[in-house]
Amino acid sequence: SVELSIVVPCFREGLGLDRALKKIADTSRASVSSMEIVAVDDGSNDDTWEIITKCRVDNVHVRGVRLSRNFGKEAAIVAGLTAAQGRAVIVMDADLEHPPELIPRMIAAWKAGALIVNGCKITPQPTSRFRSIATRAFYAVFKMSAGMDLRRDSDFKLLDRSVVAALGRFPERVRFFRGLSRSLGFEQVDLDYSPASGTRSASGFSTFGLLRYAVRAVVAFTSRPLRWLGVVGIMGFALALVLGGHTLYMKITGRAAEGFSTVILLLLAT
Ligand code: UDP
Ligand code: MG
Repeated sequence: SVELSIVVPCFREGLGLDRALKKIADTSRASVSSMEIVAVDDGSNDDTWEIITKCRVDNVHVRGVRLSRNFGKEAAIVAGLTAAQGRAVIVMDADLEHPPELIPRMIAAWKAGALIVNGCKITPQPTSRFRSIATRAFYAVFKMSAGMDLRRDSDFKLLDRSVVAALGRFPERVRFFRGLSRSLGFEQVDLDYSPASGTRSASGFSTFGLLRYAVRAVVAFTSRPLRWLGVVGIMGFALALVLGGHTLYMKITGRAAEGFSTVILLLLAT
């Protein structure tokens, strides 16, 4: 059996993908007895799939998984985890933003008994001003609603086979991989890394794409925002009852101006 699988979600990575996969293989090879790379083409419309199928690396089996359309990074990760056969599975980006140099240390931590190794960034990713404000807002909301501080967490992780198997039992819950490992339990180790800058001109996600992603991430973990909305709804209803009662009282006691009670009651009812 294979000792290590490296799952790499790829969306329009054409340029540079071949070099990245080779670099990943070269930095990991010495740490394990055998390894494979599972490159998942997330419905790219460039030559990503071509490059994956043609990629040859010494002693490393590069296996391609091709999704029928662009399902998004989370789905690509799930597909990769399902296909991976290693006793340890590493998930990392295709653009070398996650430095392969961390891989030998992740494997060492795994061999020392860790079942999950989290790659934690020590410096924030280089993004636009708007993105960085939006990102901070997202993590604040996530912390408030789901009670987890994920500011330094990333999708760069190593999972033991037993953890992959646990995830396989509820794949529909894997909507926000970054936060999932923290909520799972298991013996975990955090390793710091500084994200390589200038690996890519821009994030592959659009602003609206990120917004949708953020909402899904929170909803995947907690129903607390839903309950907050429920409380707001009940308070609004209670207020309407009080005001309605007051309006009726004024009408009955003849202190209301002609026609006003009808308008107020209709407004409160809607
Ligand atoms: N990715 C994917 N599907 C998508 C968007 C991105 O599989 O719809 C992959 C992409 O190829 C890369 C990783 O997810 O390997 C991170 O994407 P990117 O670097 O664009 O985003 P970042 O998180 O760096 O902003
Ligand atoms: Mg990136």
